[in-house]
Amino acid sequence: MTDQPTGLIIVVSAPSGGGKSSLCQRLLNWSPKLVYSVSCTTRAPRGGEQHGHDYFFLSQEEFEQRIQAGDFLEYARYNGNYYGTPRSFLEEQLAAGKDVLLDIEVQGAGQVIHRVRGGGFAYPDALVTMFLMPPSPELLETRLRRRGTDSDETIRKRLALAQQEMAHWHEYDYVIVSGHLDDDFEQGKSIIIAEKRRTARQPKDKPWQQNELSF
Ligand code: 5GP
Repeated sequence: MTDQPTGLIIVVSAPSGGGKSSLCQRLLNWSPKLVYSVSCTTRAPRGGEQHGHDYFFLSQEEFEQRIQAGDFLEYARYNGNYYGTPRSFLEEQLAAGKDVLLDIEVQGAGQVIHRVRGGGFAYPDALVTMFLMPPSPELLETRLRRRGTDSDETIRKRLALAQQEMAHWHEYDYVIVSGHLDDDFEQGKSIIIAEKRRTARQPKDKPWQQNELSF
């Protein structure tokens, strides 16, 4: 039981092409209590991406100033660019009892696990981590090729990176072997519901206050 707000930090990682964005979108559409943590990055926006919605697009200098200022819960260099999770938004949302979804890669997820559970973080029990695992390297390659946007060279690099990322699956609380989006979503949703029903996360002496399924 807890005196703390019951908001969760939900980390989802997967190699690129692993269906992670679609899963995250489905989870966000499902739960009105779930908010997306918009990351900062130094990579250029891709077609249609909006500043403040998909990412906060920063220059390398701006990003490094924010590192110095301690603004990030975690940050990592990935594919030649910086990516980082703003700390203040996450903390505000948790304090308001919201669940926060972090779509981040494995180095960043490792830092979040360490920082949140390692002591010194206001909500050490708030974290739930999931790794979305491609069903096989062959299928991942097929998916990357089907997108039709990348050269052979880029696909080879992405596959090598994916292999490195997949080696980290056991650092996560849950692994979902990605299949049809509906199945991935059902599993992600079940994990969140089960985590929210844990006795340790119920408000002290008043578990019934959590009984309405207000996801
Ligand atoms: P993309 O450039 O394709 O949007 O993202 C590349 C990778 O960076 C993805 O695996 C994505 O989950 C990850 N990513 C996005 N935001 C963050 C962040 O704030 N921190 C970390 N560590 N990774 C992130």
